[in-house]
Amino acid sequence: MSRLGEFIVDVFCKRDALLPTIFYENAHFMLVYDKYPIVRGHMLIIPKRHVEDIIALDAEEWESLRQLKDKVLPIALRRYCGESISYNVAIQIGEHSGREIDHLHIHILPRAPGDSFEGDSRKLYRNIVERNERQDSSWVEEEVQALRKLLKYTPKKQ
Ligand SMILES: [Zn+2]
Repeated sequence: MSRLGEFIVDVFCKRDALLPTIFYENAHFMLVYDKYPIVRGHMLIIPKRHVEDIIALDAEEWESLRQLKDKVLPIALRRYCGESISYNVAIQIGEHSGREIDHLHIHILPRAPGDSFEGDSRKLYRNIVERNERQDSSWVEEEVQALRKLLKYTPKKQ
């Protein structure tokens, strides 16, 4: 349910629809560039299985997530961060959390000196739930291509 109370399709269960923005995947997770990024490199970690809460992940999925975090995420983050890797993580779980799609998705927000939130996390989190989806995001496709190249990933139709 969206904040307007209208029905929102669970696009995160539809890999084919997400494919243009997927820039990496392993056994149980996809790394997806957010369609309406609030910072450069705003990405989502999305489980392939429909779960609503992070505690619903099974042991194999946690292992898959750990691999992503240890081996893949640092490479992607380095593209957007300054000298030291800095990022915010945001997860909305449950209907009062500001969540729009009830399929678990972990927002990863790379931070860099001089980004538009200047170190202010409260403002950043507010933007995740109140962002304007009409903003210009024409550069997203280019970023997806660059990340795929960086991570040597070629999407396969399933
Ligand atoms: Zn789903």
